[in-house]
Amino acid sequence: EQHLHIIGGGMAGSEAAWQAANAGIKVVIHEMRPKVGTFAHRTGNLGEMVCSNSFRSDDHEQNAVGLLHWEMRAAGGLIMDMAEKHRLPAGGALAVDRDPFAESVTAALTAHPNISVSYDEITTLPKDGHWIIATGPLTSGALAAAIAAETGTEALAFFDAIAPIVYHETVNMDVAWMQSRYDKGETVEEQTAYLNCPMTKAQYEDFIDALLAADKTEFKEGETAGYFDGCLPIEVMAERGRETLRFGPMKPVGLTNAHDPGNKPYAVVQLRRDNALGTLYNIVGFQTKMKYGAQKTVFAMIPGLETAEFARLGGIHRNTFINSPSLLDDQMRLRSRPNIRFAGQITGVEGYVESAAMGLLAGRMAAAELQGRSLSPVPVTTAMGALVSHITGGAEAKTFQPMNVNFGLFPPLDGVKGGRRGRKDRYKAYTDRAKADWQDWLVPQALAAE
Ligand code: FAD
Repeated sequence: EQHLHIIGGGMAGSEAAWQAANAGIKVVIHEMRPKVGTFAHRTGNLGEMVCSNSFRSDDHEQNAVGLLHWEMRAAGGLIMDMAEKHRLPAGGALAVDRDPFAESVTAALTAHPNISVSYDEITTLPKDGHWIIATGPLTSGALAAAIAAETGTEALAFFDAIAPIVYHETVNMDVAWMQSRYDKGETVEEQTAYLNCPMTKAQYEDFIDALLAADKTEFKEGETAGYFDGCLPIEVMAERGRETLRFGPMKPVGLTNAHDPGNKPYAVVQLRRDNALGTLYNIVGFQTKMKYGAQKTVFAMIPGLETAEFARLGGIHRNTFINSPSLLDDQMRLRSRPNIRFAGQITGVEGYVESAAMGLLAGRMAAAELQGRSLSPVPVTTAMGALVSHITGGAEAKTFQPMNVNFGLFPPLDGVKGGRRGRKDRYKAYTDRAKADWQDWLVPQALAAE
């Protein structure tokens, strides 16, 4: 009988093991803790939460991560089940009592007749058998080196340098305009790749002052290593000189303000399309260590972004992740070695819930493959499907950075209007559609398991 081997018993590995084992597959989890530790984990428990104890919003009608909770519950997810059992009062958020949570995840997995746990560090890429690599943002050095040897070092990152991402529909297009620098690009795709926000000299000077004064997060020890050259935080660029940004990411060359062609902007903030749908744009070169509150205030000073809403704010963290859009197929398999799947944060999703969600899918996909069942594609209208299609294809490979689940990843709905009131209706319509499509996807699998 063939086993499924899972490397890493964190959020993703634990959920993957649970799903595959419940489908009838024998699973071995390989977890290096407690023998080998990381700088963030404290225990030898499976499913340990390394930092905050929140699974974020539990609102499954108006919030994309709440919808992900709902979908995982509907699929019998272990992580959601245990989170619910150890829930702490936190308003609309799902906060979790972390130690009893991880202890009960560990107990459920070790008690499962189809699961065994081997406490060892895996240091090479397995040649044979079925494997899922779910070693997370702090993948051990030896395994990271083995992955890099397979994928090429370009395709494995050790830090994320996340530029803020805004919803296109919240950009004020009476101020911003669409144009690529020097009007490069032939196709509509290329011509709609960039949005531009103009600044006068006074606006630029105020913006620099605000950057210099903003509240920043300090780097942790070991976080700053040599990665800096290519992706300096904008506030550090501003500290190097008031003109540095104007000669860097905010240079105004090769652009003509469509709303005021006679007036050359002093500086330009560029946003680049972040997904194939064109619903999300990232602010080019704006990775930052500013605190979230400060980011909102400072970015609202950019003409055209005064009322913009963010799918995610910027950040720079220690984070091991692969270039999934170029490396993985839609079954989350490594194209060059299809006996290996990836799941969790190492695939370029971000957060406990998203990581567990990708574990859930990888576990089900691996189980179906081992049993010779065909699994229909995960509907892109669901939170699960939107996220997995983003990382395995929808995202731009060249600028790929980790992503939280958000409604910008969902295919737009017809006939539901924009605006504030409209947005509520639209999110409700997104979540209604997702729930129905997710249930439809689960049914044949439940039948196969009977
Ligand atoms: P993990 O949960 O990290 O699990 C990976 C497992 O693999 C670990 O148990 C590790 O010991 C094991 N492992 C690694 N290498 C090997 C190997 N070679 N052999 C065997 N086992 C191995 N997310 C949030 O949602 N909220 C937060 O507040 C938050 N704060 C964070 C703070 C820090 C410092 C870091 C690093 C991350 C933070 N994250 C946070 C992200 C969070 O860690 C992930 O979202 C989530 O834990 C990822 O799940 P995972 O299963 O992919 O990885």
